[in-house]
Order: sequence, then structure tokens, then C-alpha cells
Amino acid sequence: MRSDLAHKMGCELNDFGLLKVDALGATSVSGVYAAGDITSPMQSLASAVAQGAIVAGGGITHALIKEDFV
Ligand SMILES: Cc1cc2nc3c(=O)[nH]c(=O)nc-3n(C[C@H](O)[C@H](O)[C@H](O)COP(=O)(O)OP(=O)(O)OC[C@H]3O[C@@H](n4cnc5c(N)ncnc54)[C@H](O)[C@@H]3O)c2cc1C
Repeated sequence: MRSDLAHKMGCELNDFGLLKVDALGATSVSGVYAAGDITSPMQSLASAVAQGAIVAGGGITHALIKEDFV
């Protein structure tokens, strides 16, 4: 959360001043995903792990499957 990387990339923030993401962890910047403490005021290991699984297994995998690699 101390890194300014997301800010430098132009990611929008939510009402809590954390990264704004959709249900699958996509930020406002195309191709940039986030999970865990940096996205939610519900800061716990269980939340971070669950959200990480959703973002990696759902959001990013789904985005890659939709990519046209040909
Ligand atoms: C003192 C304390 C006690 C806690 N106790 C509990 C508890 O009992 N139970 C519980 O469920 N939760 C607890 N939490 C909360 C829990 O630790 C967090 O919710 C959880 O670790 C969040 O995981 P995360 O992956 O989102 O972030 P983090 O665990 O913070 O992981 C982020 C990682 O990114 C790395 N990083 C940062 N910037 C960069 C960069 N520029 N480049 C590369 N890497 C970078 C950091 O070094 C870090 O390893 C506690 C937190 C604190 C601070």
C-alpha cells in the first residue's frame, strides 16, 4: 500500500482512498488488476487470499482467454 506505482499508472481510487476495482479485480487502467488490502478496508488475511484467488483465477485468466493471440 505504500507503493506509488498504482498512482503513477493513473488507477482511480474508491471512497476509502484505496484502489477502485470491479468484481474481478480490474482497476480503471486496462490490464491492471489488484487484490487485498490495497483495494478494501476489510483488511485481513482471509479477505486478501480470497480476493487474490478471484482476481487471479477469475479476472486475469478470463481476460487472457479473451485475448486474441493469433
Ligand atoms: C500488525 C498487523 C497485524 C495483523 N494481524 C492480522 C491478523 O491477526 N489476522 C488477519 O487476518 N490479518 C491481520 N493483519 C492484516 C493482514 O496482514 C493483511 O490484511 C494482509 O497481509 C493483506 O495481504 P496483501 O497481500 O493485500 O498485502 P501485504 O501482505 O501487505 O502484501 C503486499 C506485498 O507487496 C510488497 N510490495 C510493496 N510495494 C512493492 C513494490 N513496489 N514492489 C514489489 N513489492 C512490493 C510488500 O513488501 C508486501 O510483501 C494484520 C496486519 C498488521 C499490519
